[in-house]
Amino acid sequence: MTFDACELTIRNKKTEIDYSVQHRLRKRMQLIMNGLRTLLFFTTITLFQIAWAKPIIIAHRGASGYLPEHSLEAKVLAFAQGADFIEQDLVMTKDNEIVVLHEHYLNRVTDVAQKYPGRARDDGKYYVIDFTLEELRQLRITNGYKGDPSGQPQPEWPERFPVFQSRFSIHTFAEEIELIQGLNALLDQNIGIYPEIKSPWFHRQEGKDISQSVLAILKQYGYDSKKDPIFLQSFDPNELLRIDRQLLPKMQMDIPLVQLIAETSWLETYELNAKGEWQPYDYQWMFEKGAMARISDYAEGIGPWKPFIIKETSTAKDIQVTPMVRRAHAAGLVVHPYTFRADTGRIPSWAHSFETMVKLFVEEAKIDGFFTDFPDRARKAIE
Ligand code: CA
Repeated sequence: MTFDACELTIRNKKTEIDYSVQHRLRKRMQLIMNGLRTLLFFTTITLFQIAWAKPIIIAHRGASGYLPEHSLEAKVLAFAQGADFIEQDLVMTKDNEIVVLHEHYLNRVTDVAQKYPGRARDDGKYYVIDFTLEELRQLRITNGYKGDPSGQPQPEWPERFPVFQSRFSIHTFAEEIELIQGLNALLDQNIGIYPEIKSPWFHRQEGKDISQSVLAILKQYGYDSKKDPIFLQSFDPNELLRIDRQLLPKMQMDIPLVQLIAETSWLETYELNAKGEWQPYDYQWMFEKGAMARISDYAEGIGPWKPFIIKETSTAKDIQVTPMVRRAHAAGLVVHPYTFRADTGRIPSWAHSFETMVKLFVEEAKIDGFFTDFPDRARKAIE
């Protein structure tokens, strides 16, 4: 045996001894590491649950349970009542301004018939798109009503702020963003916006590209990435697809989109058929298997009507949860149903109160957030 070979044998022996010590040490370390990993895993899960346990509260048209929907006053109240996001419904004016109103006509929430008689179209509706921003600023807005505003208008919500009391007016999307951003800065908050592009098909028929204008405003005010406090919603799947595939890349933006889901019979959206005719959009596919994967191809979330999640045939003892949330989560989508209201007659029979309704949607149906007219009640219900 040469010296080198001898040394190698000794070294090998030493290595064997070292190895067995190291092996035991390594085993022990492994056990400790496994323990730590398990601990870390459960801590992470717990932290995750703490961080994500609370669903987001989206103030539907502001704190519209208390003040006229889409008035700036209702937005300030929503902010003060603890909303996480504040909703804006967006329509376009004759002079291409974006204003915050739920419908693309003015009959339900303004005194337009008094101020501008004779300017309704043949269907009796006064369309926002037929008026300039300056003209719209002359109108008073109010809670929804039916009938003659100068006579005895019938309030849509008899328990809410009285129709045509005080003074509220129409504002632009930019003005509302400035209000929310101003309050965020002063009060050290990061309350988000949740704009909805209303009836893109209607605007297209009128020769206007509302989505392009809305995105330009969002970009101008710094909402251009998935890190920003925004969700952009629409009932129109064709338009969301266009926004995702064409407009966002073109404008170097990347914001989360939400597909609102309706009953086809509500006639929420129209699309052009092969013959070039406008026909009602058929939402049926969104209730079928595989739909959520298809939506996740262009959106980050869904906004379903709440009976699509807990069936109206439920009873207090038998809460019937549909597969929609489970399927959406499996496809990586968040779920923000609408609309949670506390008015008499608006709580489903299977829930005893607004609070129970919220609790069951959160705990049984596992929603990630919800639209409500009553942000204060929602905040109390989930705390
Ligand atoms: Ca809306």
